[in-house]
Amino acid sequence: MDNNIKLLLGITDPNLTIDPKYQYTSYIEEKIIKNSKALLCHLYLSYPMHCPNCKVLMLHNGTKVVNNVHLSSAGKKLVLSIRKQKYLCPECKKTLTAKFKDTNYHDHFSNAVKAKFVRDLSLSRPMCEIAADSFTSSNTIIRSLESVENNFKVNRNWLPSHLSLDDFKSGKRFSSSGMSMCLINAVNHRIIDIIPERNNKFLRNYFIQYSHKARLSVMTITVDLYAPYRSLIKELFPNAFIIADKFHVVTQAYTAMNKIRIRVMKEYGAGTHEYRALKRFWKLLLKNQDDVDYHRYYPRINFKYAELSDSEVLDRLFDMSSELKTAYEYYQLLLQMYRKNS
Ligand SMILES: [Zn+2]
Repeated sequence: MDNNIKLLLGITDPNLTIDPKYQYTSYIEEKIIKNSKALLCHLYLSYPMHCPNCKVLMLHNGTKVVNNVHLSSAGKKLVLSIRKQKYLCPECKKTLTAKFKDTNYHDHFSNAVKAKFVRDLSLSRPMCEIAADSFTSSNTIIRSLESVENNFKVNRNWLPSHLSLDDFKSGKRFSSSGMSMCLINAVNHRIIDIIPERNNKFLRNYFIQYSHKARLSVMTITVDLYAPYRSLIKELFPNAFIIADKFHVVTQAYTAMNKIRIRVMKEYGAGTHEYRALKRFWKLLLKNQDDVDYHRYYPRINFKYAELSDSEVLDRLFDMSSELKTAYEYYQLLLQMYRKNS
């Protein structure tokens, strides 16, 4: 198998080759598997194996075909149909089968697929959507997630300086609330561990397992603005600054800005000229300042058909309330910081 193709498919096992049985025909065939089109890739895995007991070279003892679901390719389910070498020890008669590096023993999903599940879930993608993308079912994802969780070998004496806690929908079978958390190294975005529950009690019991020294070494923790566990973080990670997830900050600023506009409207009272103007231009108030039009003038029904640009409309709205103007300036500052990643 060509190294470029391996790179494209994300296969790392150096011993995997095209099945010699398919040498003169196409080794990739299109097949209908469980009512959907799939690509079946015929491969062969063999390498010299030494007996773990006697250390002698083992004899070839036939082959066995194993199907592994891999990352989908060209929008189709990709199945690696691997003919694995079986071995027999001439001394102690022990038998073994060649091991494929990219899949755990007894798994029929490659590790890359499982890593993708975790990544997708941490982005809060709905389980059914992830399942459809990977041509599998939600139940299969949960099962593989359980095994991923068991596979994390967590070092309780170390934590990265920059941690990130991400919520994701994991489903009721995995967590009582249906929501779990991913513990992520914020620098290289590697998943350190999966925490099934995200309530305070569970999180405390979980983090207390890490040594005090490990917890002291954490400098920043990025979380969303979900408040309940913030005080817990302060208690367990005394040296850490809490960084609010940017996206959530913007959402909150947006909501707060809108609330102030509605309050000013209500102070003027329904039916007033100010009420109608503030109601009509709600979108303009939330727009990023950089995108506000300064050049084009239109007659405005709310201002006796005066020809005004968007930016002049904003000025007239600010004349109605100084509080609204202050809130607007603060809101724009946050948007700018978000845009500039500051
Ligand atoms: Zn042996």
